Amino acid sequence: MAATKELLMLENFIGGKFLPCNSYIDSYDPSTGEVYCKVPNSGKEEIEAAVEAAREAFPAWSSQSPQGRSQVLNRIADLLEQSLEEFAQAESKDQAGLISPWNLPLYLLTWKIAPAIASGNTVIAKPSELTSVTAWMMCKLLDRAGVPPGVVNIVFGTGPRVGEALVSHPEVPLISFTGSQPTAERITMLSAPHCKKLSLELGGKNPAIVFEDAVLEECIPATVRSSFANQGEICLCTSRIFVQNSIYHEFVKRFVEATRKWKVGIPSDPSASMGALISKTHLEKVRSYVKKARAEGAQVLCGEGVDQLSLPPRNQAGYFMLPTVITDIKDDSCCMKEEIFGPVTCVVPFDNEEEVIQRANSVKYGLAATVWSSNVGRVHRVAKKLQSGLVWTNCWLIRELNLPFGGMKSSGIGREGAKDSYDFFTEIKTITVKH
Ligand code: NAD
Repeated sequence: MAATKELLMLENFIGGKFLPCNSYIDSYDPSTGEVYCKVPNSGKEEIEAAVEAAREAFPAWSSQSPQGRSQVLNRIADLLEQSLEEFAQAESKDQAGLISPWNLPLYLLTWKIAPAIASGNTVIAKPSELTSVTAWMMCKLLDRAGVPPGVVNIVFGTGPRVGEALVSHPEVPLISFTGSQPTAERITMLSAPHCKKLSLELGGKNPAIVFEDAVLEECIPATVRSSFANQGEICLCTSRIFVQNSIYHEFVKRFVEATRKWKVGIPSDPSASMGALISKTHLEKVRSYVKKARAEGAQVLCGEGVDQLSLPPRNQAGYFMLPTVITDIKDDSCCMKEEIFGPVTCVVPFDNEEEVIQRANSVKYGLAATVWSSNVGRVHRVAKKLQSGLVWTNCWLIRELNLPFGGMKSSGIGREGAKDSYDFFTEIKTITVKH
């Protein structure tokens, strides 16, 4: 009989100590569908302990000089091999609750923790229950970097249980959340009775607009990447491609050819461009959008239900799907309105500038957009009128991390970026002194 592999058991990181929990949930390996580790199913009790640890650590940490705090951050940065130094000059003050999603589990978590502790706050972070191992490994580095006990506390578990306990805690006045719009609605409601300061980084339904004078040799590979990078599980991914009528058929042909070359493979395959989606539930949700599009009469040109996916036997139950291109779909279809957050993109034709701006803006989200054209005047005109926190022209995902980042409309409130995170995590006080 084969020996049963012992599962990794994660622990909460509270007051500088790794603490077990009395209840656990399963976490799955997306590439096989097998249980991979056990994640603490924390609740109110663990949040109480973390808030107490953060409260106790706060006076000493917040009164340290920015240089002292920056030394600790630099040690973490060295350990993570990623630069956090730019945050370290900020000034303090509070206990902050940080809630992050699964899609970029280290980047999004460190991007919250660094400015918060650099400004003298102590924090309680709740990473996604789907990618908790990354955060747990990071706790080991925090420990090694000499972060004083209680400055960073990480509490694992589900949103409705431990996430809500954190958001509702009266002693946590700042909440920085990255995740979906429906969760943000719930967080806003729960934090309202305490008038908490909120930063919300939410979803998108990002358009790419391709004018007839676009350089297709650059636009097509970049748009395949913007649609399918990280399985389309990046909030900035393109999911609606508007192509000017005169080049529509040529674009679609070349785009589908390029998409078919975007290889789906297992994690150890260096030639793969795309891996498994995050969970079974998410895979089913993404597939259901393709099904709905077909039922509405749209064409699925490649990917789901059209091409064959080939995987090794061990990965047959993994959460893989092929990059999928949909055409002949109406603007009011749910595939054109809702965030799918997977490897599915819709390509539709347009006639003129005014029309495409109006159609691109006709969704509730406004996170990112891309404009492809060789006409600089047009690029500026269109970018100005797009309801989008970020507009790329003739490129995608080129980011200067000091620039403000954040969405318009239902894509969120508050802006991230070095300076903006500083503003969020610091308290502006009015102090009047009478001599
Ligand atoms: P999600 O909203 O389901 O979960 C995000 C986090 O919130 C998780 O840690 C989850 O456990 C927690 N949570 C869930 N319900 C909660 C509740 N009731 N109270 C408190 N916390 C709760 O989102 P997700 O599926 O993890 O992430 C994908 C979403 O994140 C997409 O919408 C994507 O666009 C968005 N996102 C946005 C950005 C950005 O910067 N704008 C970046 C990455 C991801």
